[in-house]
Amino acid sequence: MVAPVAVLGGGLAGASAALRLAQAGIGVDLFERQAGPHHKVCGEFLSVEAQRDLHDLGFDPLRLGAVPIERIRVVRGTKSVESRLPFTALGISREVLDQALLDAAARAGAHVHRGVKVVAMDAGGIDTGAGRFCPETVFLATGKHDLRGAKRPEPGARGDEIGFKMHWRITAEQDAELGSAIELVLLDGGYVGLQRVAARVMNVCALVRREGFGGSWNGLLTAIAREPHVARRLDGASEMLRRPTSIAALPYGYVHRPGDDRESLYRLGDQAALTAPLTGDGMAIALRSAALAVACHRSGRGPLDYTRILRREVGGQVRRAMALHRLVGLPVLPLTLGLLRLHPSLLGRLAAATRLGRLDGARRIDRPGPPGAEAAFSDR
Ligand SMILES: Cc1cc2nc3c(=O)[nH]c(=O)nc-3n(C[C@H](O)[C@H](O)[C@H](O)COP(=O)(O)OP(=O)(O)OC[C@H]3O[C@@H](n4cnc5c(N)ncnc54)[C@H](O)[C@@H]3O)c2cc1C
Repeated sequence: MVAPVAVLGGGLAGASAALRLAQAGIGVDLFERQAGPHHKVCGEFLSVEAQRDLHDLGFDPLRLGAVPIERIRVVRGTKSVESRLPFTALGISREVLDQALLDAAARAGAHVHRGVKVVAMDAGGIDTGAGRFCPETVFLATGKHDLRGAKRPEPGARGDEIGFKMHWRITAEQDAELGSAIELVLLDGGYVGLQRVAARVMNVCALVRREGFGGSWNGLLTAIAREPHVARRLDGASEMLRRPTSIAALPYGYVHRPGDDRESLYRLGDQAALTAPLTGDGMAIALRSAALAVACHRSGRGPLDYTRILRREVGGQVRRAMALHRLVGLPVLPLTLGLLRLHPSLLGRLAAATRLGRLDGARRIDRPGPPGAEAAFSDR
């Protein structure tokens, strides 16, 4: 028996969509290629916007072991600048968070098929290692990875950066020094983000251009260990994962256009919009796109309307995040850091200015206001 909806991919977008569909009593099959809990390349900075969506779904990230992030510290060489964030973000392990959402989806009645890779899809259905399925509607949430038969049309230029993530067991002193800060260590050709994601666990997530360190984790480690600040953070710490997770050649800045897909396909999360990682709102976009897609599906609006509304909701954030991303890649960086040192509060303002906006189509569809309000909301 095949459910009417198939969700492809069990990251934040796919798992939260499956949870919302199951809660609404809609039959759903979710296919996740990984057989068990797994890590993702991610700075694991959970923004306030993402926290709000998780609370809506009944999750308290603090109960999952998340730690508060209240300050931002930008470091270059031996110089640094620090400011309070205008909100409290959280540090949380993606392995824990994604798994908690998948478990909740299964408890709510979604059929979660783990270790099943979807290999292709066409107008008639989807092909997996476990057979062919023909659902009425597909929610495509495979993240950064394109699927044969449903590739993102013209995703634009792919960046030459590689993303790496590794968790480190840190000492009690390092834990106290890092405290509630996210640290961005600026390098020539990229940056490394350091923050706690649980007590005495530090996430090191880098987005760096290949040249300069050879494209390997060991090459990157050698390069960043020359940075005095990183060296201090890693001294006496030990790697917790068997190997780092990594990802390369992503089309940052991509925002999906309405009308580019078949009528029964909702594209969620990174498949719909790939914001620059620096501003830490990718998880918020994943959660919000899932909420909006489910609201559109339930109200009969369909994927076309969904894509239009989503573009309007996330387009501004993606543009601002990309502007900051490019700025960090420019040779004027020392000047920028000098300016920030003169006016540290600019850091907080930049963080506030690159948030996902307050437009929230899913809430307005679920709880429509008077007739006039609905017309104003329509984006046709
Ligand atoms: C370097 C870097 C740092 C980042 N830092 C942050 C940050 O600090 N904060 C933040 O909010 N965002 C951050 N992001 C962005 C964030 O990680 C993503 O936006 C978010 O994970 C998107 O969620 P998703 O569900 O769309 O995709 P994913 O989380 O990637 O999930 C996709 C899922 O689909 C599965 N899958 C893939 N292909 C198939 C298939 N064929 N069949 C079945 N299953 C499949 C995968 O195994 C995976 O579980 C960062 C991104 C990068 C690259």
